[in-house]
Amino acid sequence: MNRFQCPRCKGALCAATPAQVACGACGTGFDATNGILDLASSDAAPREAGHKPAEEVAWLDRIALAAGERWPETLGTVLQIGCGGGLSSALIASGQTHELAIIDPSIASLNDDRTAVERAGLIDRVPVSFAACPPGASLRDVGFDTCISLTALEQSDNPRRLLAELFRCLKPGGRAILVAPNQRYHRALGATLAEIVALQFADNPAPDPDRDRLVERLALMRLADLHQGAGRANPIDADVVRETAVQQGFDTAAVLPLDPDPDGSAATAALLKRQGVGLGYTAATLALLPGFRRRYFDLLHPADRSAATLLWLTKPVGPRLRTFRALPQARPLSVAPGHEMASLAGGLPVRCWLDLLARRSPNGLTLTIVGWCLASVDILAARVIIDGSAGEAAVWCDRSDVQQTLNGAGLYPAWNALCSGVDATLYYAGLCPEGDHPTLSVQLLISNGSIAELPCTGRIPLGESVRVVA
Ligand SMILES: [Zn+2]
Repeated sequence: MNRFQCPRCKGALCAATPAQVACGACGTGFDATNGILDLASSDAAPREAGHKPAEEVAWLDRIALAAGERWPETLGTVLQIGCGGGLSSALIASGQTHELAIIDPSIASLNDDRTAVERAGLIDRVPVSFAACPPGASLRDVGFDTCISLTALEQSDNPRRLLAELFRCLKPGGRAILVAPNQRYHRALGATLAEIVALQFADNPAPDPDRDRLVERLALMRLADLHQGAGRANPIDADVVRETAVQQGFDTAAVLPLDPDPDGSAATAALLKRQGVGLGYTAATLALLPGFRRRYFDLLHPADRSAATLLWLTKPVGPRLRTFRALPQARPLSVAPGHEMASLAGGLPVRCWLDLLARRSPNGLTLTIVGWCLASVDILAARVIIDGSAGEAAVWCDRSDVQQTLNGAGLYPAWNALCSGVDATLYYAGLCPEGDHPTLSVQLLISNGSIAELPCTGRIPLGESVRVVA
């Protein structure tokens, strides 16, 4: 308990009853049923179930192997962010942990973790505490020698703030050990598998449930990559995180490959297994992998040749001057009319087929948008502007038909075509047009910072479907 503090006033916590803890300063009471301290007050982060790493596969040994000489003689007082993966038991059993505090937003996950530690006979081996709270105000300053997490970075919607909190709660000379999915590797994997699927479609367009399952997975990978958001497993750009860590005051920030898989075969096999794909399809897909490896995996930097990255951050022993380097400026947005779109979007014409239907709804306007958009570079979203109000629909949904009918010659990247779908309902709060034909413009937001203006009629009749085709 002495590693935690009152999230409201930073006061010290003391046991009030066996199932209650109270703040000594402001008097706020917190539930502590079954040894799990509930510090996530109603105004704190939402209490969605914590994400659990799927398999229990000797995480600590793998991390130690990747860390090499960095691995310390002792981990000291450890903060574990996020439950699952057998990490808690491994940390205690290692004999290197003197004290362990485990935090997770989900009380159910903490209960599971506690049960697992008890079953392994490890609960009394070292002092262990469990608390439901985000990695923030509930953690005392300079309380930990080691912060470790398998999920914190990928789940965070504000990595900068997360790193600042870790820095604050680490002791001088302490270390943060963070595992996160590697964005560049996941892009190579997604692009490779999409090319393989395109080849399979060309060979045999007949329906195949296994192939459909893979395309479904590719669409979700694209969603996480292009539209990072809270609650998703967001792949991270380790270089950006490293730069942010140094800005937050960390002394060293190393990016290390965890379980290197330079040709993608282990990652592909694991992905197909998770999707429940049959053995025959898995074997056929793995057999096609070498033909595409050179195009994507061989281009990765050696530090990027693993599905998961290990970030090893150390806090300086003494005070240190923080240096702020100027971050690269965002490119100015440029808007191109129809005939210039190709030059913005990688040389090939932007293609799209979108059906829009706008209707009045209480206190606003609802728009359904269904169809697909395709370019040779990544399209982030379709933006629909009605009477000056903008709504955005993400482009990522599975559209195998677009790959088959439009991209048979493989002019566009297969991943773009397979995941070119748009299917969204947008709500324009407070938009109540005077007439029944408000103004309309439709744009595509492209990942390189440019915006392509799609040709359309300029007005959208409410209650009638409008088609935008390019
Ligand atoms: Zn308090």
